[in-house]
Amino acid sequence: MILDQDGNPIQSPADRESAAYTMVREFRQAFDASKDPALWAKLIREELAEFDEALQNLVKEFSDVKYVLAGALQTYEEVGGPDLDETLAKRIEIASAIVSSFLPELVEDTAFAEVHRSNMSKLGPDGKPVRREDGKILKGPNYSPADLTFITTNV
Ligand SMILES: [Mg+2]
Repeated sequence: MILDQDGNPIQSPADRESAAYTMVREFRQAFDASKDPALWAKLIREELAEFDEALQNLVKEFSDVKYVLAGALQTYEEVGGPDLDETLAKRIEIASAIVSSFLPELVEDTAFAEVHRSNMSKLGPDGKPVRREDGKILKGPNYSPADLTFITTNV
């Protein structure tokens, strides 16, 4: 949050933009930053690539949260279990609100299906799970990670 000189939040978009510009000008002056427009364009491309990667990671991790939540609820139903901890439920609700604020449901569902495809690819060549001694499911030789690049390639 950007604050004014008195510590109050700056609300107007124009004021916020102006405050951000002032900060960046301060940075550019302090570091005697390059005046080469091509370098700045390159920096924009680099930062956008990092943004794309972060967005894909965010959606992947949220899909993972939904995956283990569904797994937990199914397990509780089958063998009996505690109600979902209130704090966990609240955190999932908040994460869900964040993701649905920028991601259409169709994209969210397609990402979930891709995470599922990747999880299923952990099966061994005999179609059976590969397990560690303590029961954790390991990745089989046909495993391929979820590819969520479609989220950002069309933006
Ligand atoms: Mg994960």
